[in-house]
Amino acid sequence: MIGTIDLNSAMQAVDRLVKSVDTDDPTQTPNAVALDRETVREAITRLCWTAEARDIMFTAVACCCAVDPSEMSFLGLLWYIRQNGGTRRIFETENGAQDSKVVGGYGIVAPMMAARLPAGTVRLNKPVRTIDSRDATTVTVTCSDGERFVARTVVLAIAPVQQLRIEYHPALPPAKLQALQQFKMGNTIKTFAYYDAPFWRELGLNGSAVCDTGIVAVSMDDTKPDGTLPCIMGFALSDQVATVDAMPDAELARSLGAHYAALFGDARGHCVRRVKRSRWASETWIGGALATWSPVCLTTHYKAMTASLAEGRILIAGTETARRNPGYVDGAVEAGERAGRNALVQIGKLPSSARDAVDIPCESVQMPFVPLEWTPLERWLPSLSSFIVGAGATMAGVAAVLALRHSSRR
Ligand SMILES: Cc1cc2nc3c(=O)[nH]c(=O)nc-3n(C[C@H](O)[C@H](O)[C@H](O)COP(=O)(O)OP(=O)(O)OC[C@H]3O[C@@H](n4cnc5c(N)ncnc54)[C@H](O)[C@@H]3O)c2cc1C
Repeated sequence: MIGTIDLNSAMQAVDRLVKSVDTDDPTQTPNAVALDRETVREAITRLCWTAEARDIMFTAVACCCAVDPSEMSFLGLLWYIRQNGGTRRIFETENGAQDSKVVGGYGIVAPMMAARLPAGTVRLNKPVRTIDSRDATTVTVTCSDGERFVARTVVLAIAPVQQLRIEYHPALPPAKLQALQQFKMGNTIKTFAYYDAPFWRELGLNGSAVCDTGIVAVSMDDTKPDGTLPCIMGFALSDQVATVDAMPDAELARSLGAHYAALFGDARGHCVRRVKRSRWASETWIGGALATWSPVCLTTHYKAMTASLAEGRILIAGTETARRNPGYVDGAVEAGERAGRNALVQIGKLPSSARDAVDIPCESVQMPFVPLEWTPLERWLPSLSSFIVGAGATMAGVAAVLALRHSSRR
């Protein structure tokens, strides 16, 4: 009860601060520098009175950003929450950034888009190694196999850490080089525990869980839509990654089995038949997951991280630069569309008024927009400090009345 009151008031305090964050540019937020110099761990410790509320908030941050809260800027977290529609919106399924799944898996989207372009437009297995913008009107991109492409503008739609792996002529401006070194990827291993049957469904459970103990923080039912391959997918995040990484398969199966047996309260959880894991930090050209997080000193480095190069001929996209839903696919699409429009402005195919315009997405037919408001009880529930002060004052008042009555009877 006390923990719930505390968590509610901490989340209300965070949402009040979130409303003050500048949507387009976090550095313009009132009190930006002070908020930025505080880590998320420091801020949560300041806002929460109880260990229960603190631990839930730490777990929530790890789930969204796959980072230890002591590594992330509080301003960065507030900005992330603002861009993603508030604390509620992030955690709710309906209308949240992760409200939909792609039938057939997300991996089919890029090939389907590529198939609509003229043959040979999308070239795979061609990491870009150098970008030369010394010519005043063109940019030359050279791939690892030596093939060159010359263009009037180039869009770099890759994570900041990946931009560091390219050699630039001329060299990157110092502020950009410093900024790119700050924005690191989160750390995640995705685990898959396969069962003979989805026993959790028989218990009336959907398999989704968030847990602040054990070897995975977030789990979901990953059984195929036709009911084959019953599976619980679990994310090991941040400080759980090293433990999961070091485990042989048999030990991982035992540990995940014990975790799900305890979580779903059923001994069948132990009967894991097979495990699989995806280590996102071993994806050379991505470098981690789920996305890049905001370092302390965001105010110093944000503008340089997103700034274009070579007088606008090299544009920066990628989900990190999105104004809406950064860190998610939605954000990547928004950033890509903006960079594409800016490229057309740069080569004179669109008027300069189109520069940096952000499209408002049309409403999804399958998932119409639903307002997500705090309930009146949540909004008006006192904070733990006022609850304690109020309870103390009430008890003092009652004690004073009793004392008065007692002395008047004498
Ligand atoms: C495990 C996991 C789960 C996720 N779950 C969700 C979810 O449920 N919902 C959601 O919305 N988002 C989710 N995300 C986040 C989402 O995948 C990212 O936000 C999104 O893919 C970012 O898109 P992007 O275009 O910015 O970058 P990327 O998708 O990283 O694309 C960049 C591409 O550039 C390539 N590249 C890098 N360097 C070079 C180079 N030098 N030359 C050529 N190519 C290069 C990379 O190989 C990569 O293919 C998840 C991410 C992970 C890892």
